[in-house]
Amino acid sequence: KKCLNRIKKMHHLNAYITVTEETALQQAQQAEDRLQRGVPKGPLDGVPFAIKDNFCTANIKTTCASNMLKDYTPPFNATVVQKLLDQGGVLVGKTNLDEFAMGSGSIDGVFGPVKNPWSFAAPYRELTGASPDSDWVITGGSSGGSAAAVASLSSFLALGSDTGGSTRNPGALCGVVALKPTYGLLSRHGLIPLVNSMDVPGIMTRCVSDAAMVLDILKGHDIRDSTTVHSPSTSAEFPEDFDVQNIRVGIPKEYHAPGLSAQAAAQWSRVADLFERAGARVEQVSLPHTQFSIVCYYVLCCAEVASNMARFDGLEYGHRSETGHSTEVLYASTRHEGFNDVVRGRILCGNYFLLKKNYEHYFLKAQRVRRLIAEDFRRVFDAGVDVLLTPTTLTDAARYHDFKSENSQARSVQEDLFTQPVNLAGLPAVCVPTALSKRGLPIGLQLIGPAFQDKKLLGVARWLE
Ligand code: GLN
Repeated sequence: KKCLNRIKKMHHLNAYITVTEETALQQAQQAEDRLQRGVPKGPLDGVPFAIKDNFCTANIKTTCASNMLKDYTPPFNATVVQKLLDQGGVLVGKTNLDEFAMGSGSIDGVFGPVKNPWSFAAPYRELTGASPDSDWVITGGSSGGSAAAVASLSSFLALGSDTGGSTRNPGALCGVVALKPTYGLLSRHGLIPLVNSMDVPGIMTRCVSDAAMVLDILKGHDIRDSTTVHSPSTSAEFPEDFDVQNIRVGIPKEYHAPGLSAQAAAQWSRVADLFERAGARVEQVSLPHTQFSIVCYYVLCCAEVASNMARFDGLEYGHRSETGHSTEVLYASTRHEGFNDVVRGRILCGNYFLLKKNYEHYFLKAQRVRRLIAEDFRRVFDAGVDVLLTPTTLTDAARYHDFKSENSQARSVQEDLFTQPVNLAGLPAVCVPTALSKRGLPIGLQLIGPAFQDKKLLGVARWLE
């Protein structure tokens, strides 16, 4: 009830698209009965959680913040949602996002932008004299609603999705822990795809130990997702008191990128010093193909988007235009009315990259570059580095009006520099809040680990927390 009240009180954040008040109260009551009888369903019994609105939820609208799916109600739960429910979790609502998770601001969905809870907190207001009505800052994205839900304490955990940084980016800007697990560890069944070869469900929590617990609940092979692995080697216990002495921490030199704010850079070296003082070996490493990752990501992303979005034809489900008087016109007008400019732009680009004459030049080349980026990481980890320490975002959260006027798509593209290579390589990464900026807004750093070492990565993150 407190969480539901909190959702109402923080309604102005626009973090939720659907609030599932009635079912939440029922589920909570059942959990309370079980707890009183001493027979909890699992470690999450009675714990409120929120889900990004691109995960299917049985009998609850799943919109992807798009006109195309505005009235779509799936008949089934995504595997990860079902697992949380099976452990007694209480779903309080579906959270806002950029349309079809394309973006890094949570400003592009049909239900309007998400406001960062820190815009309304004392530090930001006092340090900047900002007016919350006009100077509010973005949450980052695309899982901005989930980050705002956790940061504003209306939910104890939330799921986002992470294709190029969509969980870690808003995690950093809203000051919550955000884990992008190794690709293949968690099922994507029921997560409406953006880029199948990069999408993973992301976990957002208030602290690292919670993220570790949720990871344990969610991981595992799913017969409905052929890319999930059978016996992940992450079963090792989560080391609560991880000793960072003697671990090797790599600092990728290519991540000293143009646009990195002085404060984010200062945080980065402060934390590197902390590791060093605790006895870790901090060393500079090189990931030489980083500079190609954004271009590579967008070629592959658009290509997969073009193919994924073909399912929205106005016939089977989702929006159907009323102006179609032939099949072609029906397709075209449905998709014109259903998708925003960002989605349509990516479909166009993707189809262009996939044209017979372009396929080799763009798509195949991007696949090769992707492999080189993955090999950069492998080389560093094979040489004995345990984790990489990097910034998560270039700056703290931007004012909405600045972000918008700067051409948010271009800005979004740059913002993903530190997060996208991880998705191209399928590795685990976690963003941990480490400080407040001079404007009173959160700054988070990212730790990246070798594939399937998610637990060890969280152990290091726990130390940093
Ligand atoms: N910002 C990136 C994009 O727009 C990543 C999005 C994501 O991770 N879902 O594609």
